[in-house]
Amino acid sequence: MTVYLDMDGVLADFFGKVEEVYHVDHWKELNMDVVIAKIQNTNFFLKLDEFPTASKLVREVDDMTAGDWGICSSPLRGDHFNSAYWKRRWLEERDFIPREWKKLVFTPNKEKYSRASFTGEPNILVDDKYSNSFYEKFFETFNKSQII
Ligand SMILES: [Mg+2]
Repeated sequence: MTVYLDMDGVLADFFGKVEEVYHVDHWKELNMDVVIAKIQNTNFFLKLDEFPTASKLVREVDDMTAGDWGICSSPLRGDHFNSAYWKRRWLEERDFIPREWKKLVFTPNKEKYSRASFTGEPNILVDDKYSNSFYEKFFETFNKSQII
């Protein structure tokens, strides 16, 4: 069983940076389609602050799983390769790269990683957004797995 960590909202404060850059109290005041268009093809993801808990979370998950953990993060819409590049750089700067490169995953289809590909063994995803429709789908896939 692999434990996958989401990035935005779990390790990296994406919305905090959006609120800082656009001078709003809450990102919901913004048109996120406009924000996303503006951060496409930039290094925005490299500039995100890490949550104070991020390092401890990564180290504890590494200990708990004896290194069987990964990153499972969605790339920015319309900016898949560029955003994944800067997200990887962000992880490298903090030494948050999983021990196995194949477990560094940038995908809009996180549910594919709910189970191990060969054995079907359930995995765990630590994510901040299981309540929206995309993650409900993920949750359904995770039915016999675990989600936290
Ligand atoms: Mg997230």
